[in-house]
Amino acid sequence: MTMIASSIDRTWKRFIFAQLRPGTPMTTRRHFVLTLPATALALATVRTASAQAAKLQETDPQAVALGYRHDATKVDARKYATYAPGHNCANCQLYTGKAGDALGPCGAMGGKLVAATGWCVAWARKA
Ligand code: SF4
Repeated sequence: MTMIASSIDRTWKRFIFAQLRPGTPMTTRRHFVLTLPATALALATVRTASAQAAKLQETDPQAVALGYRHDATKVDARKYATYAPGHNCANCQLYTGKAGDALGPCGAMGGKLVAATGWCVAWARKA
């Protein structure tokens, strides 16, 4: 997404500089001014989308290292003795998502989005 935003940024910068060059016909400049709000809105939308954190995959090295699962009920309780039914990301101290959200950032996973229903060995009861 960042590459797309960067590419769009470069394209628009080229367009903007071309429009501001001396000798540019007034009708083109007027068109530029009239389309500027729409352009700004489009860029803001792309930047917001690219600024959102990525969703953690169970195959991410950090997730593998900490035994993360999207669905806490699928945790191997024999392998992870600290796991207990009812433990999940939504009630973990490191989860900073809002109550009711399906995904939220996790401090143990570099701020990537984890499932509220997930779990990993770093789980600590929310105070
Ligand atoms: S540290 Fe907590 S919020 Fe993060 S993945 Fe593990 S259980 Fe979920």
